[in-house]
Amino acid sequence: MLPIILLFFVLIVLLLLFLLHGRAGDVKNGSESANFYVQAVKLIDSLQSGETAGVENILASIMEADSEKKEIYVIFGNVLREKGYIAEAIKVHKSVLHRPNLENKFKGWALSSLAEDFRLAGMLERAVRTYRDAFNLNPGDSGLLRRYAHLCKQVGDYEKLLSLMDVMAKGKILNEEKYRMEVAFIYNELGEQAAKEGEFSKAETNFRKALKLNAKVYPAYLNLAKLSVEKGDKIGLARKHLEELFRQVPDKAFLGMNLYLRISPGQFEELCHSLLNRNADDWRTRLHLSRYYIQQDRPDAAFPELIKAMQSMPHVLLVHQEIWKFLMQYPKKQEYLKEYAIQTDKIMVFNAPFMCVDCRYKSSEFLWKCPSCFGWNTFVESKI
Ligand SMILES: [Zn+2]
Repeated sequence: MLPIILLFFVLIVLLLLFLLHGRAGDVKNGSESANFYVQAVKLIDSLQSGETAGVENILASIMEADSEKKEIYVIFGNVLREKGYIAEAIKVHKSVLHRPNLENKFKGWALSSLAEDFRLAGMLERAVRTYRDAFNLNPGDSGLLRRYAHLCKQVGDYEKLLSLMDVMAKGKILNEEKYRMEVAFIYNELGEQAAKEGEFSKAETNFRKALKLNAKVYPAYLNLAKLSVEKGDKIGLARKHLEELFRQVPDKAFLGMNLYLRISPGQFEELCHSLLNRNADDWRTRLHLSRYYIQQDRPDAAFPELIKAMQSMPHVLLVHQEIWKFLMQYPKKQEYLKEYAIQTDKIMVFNAPFMCVDCRYKSSEFLWKCPSCFGWNTFVESKI
């Protein structure tokens, strides 16, 4: 929300500067220019104060005035879009683009503004086409590049996104570390797409490229392991990929634990203990370990793990659900119920524990791609 408000105010300041600056040179157009100025101020005032009843009428009279200052219309359109008037924004941006003899840089700017209107209106195909045209006219515009890249992420056009990342890196718009992280996640996505289409060797190449760029891109280990399992006879290799995940990114080990248990049940308990030795607060590993003990009908080993998991993350509903399941499965173990009641007396807050640090989207599950802002690796675990 804050960036939108900031953007809005920056646009308004720009607009006012533009209007004030332009006024001196407009003396020859006398009353028409004065009327345009009055209407423009009225429009800004209405949008800012939230009194939106007359916005369409004011806008219509501004469009009729047909001022020479075409840049103002692009800014108007952008302000309208940010305030939720997307159909009006599209109309204003299109009207500017119909003017004759527009220079490429301006046309690229107006087109990229129109493309963003389309994106927010959910007209994604038109947004993609319009961004592409804008980019061809104005490839050096960093704001356009970022928004175009964001749209490519949204629609899953990772090949195009890769080429835009290269442009950004060359133009020093992205720093080296961010570039490597983003591109590694893109290769992981390309690998997933190839795997879905049954192109396993292409998928494997992409997952390996991802890890070569950034050894912390955890989904790529998991995907390589799944690929090895799907190929049938490469269980040992799958185990190696998972062990590399556990070693490189232990806080994401939970992503590979079910698969590890499936392919290597004999080593599972040892794995859990080694992870817990590194981090005693790793509540997800404790949940996995408790499930493993329950499977083996070892409730006395399982219950302490559940209680320790709850002590590490008392507000996670999932932990309590696991304990409830356990208590139902072992109804005769009254001492466990008593222990749980004592522990929960001190705490009882449930919430979605994961949050995107970029857009504050909340989720009850861990996600490596945010469904709201499409960022990668933006979720953190929040303790209340
Ligand atoms: Zn997000």
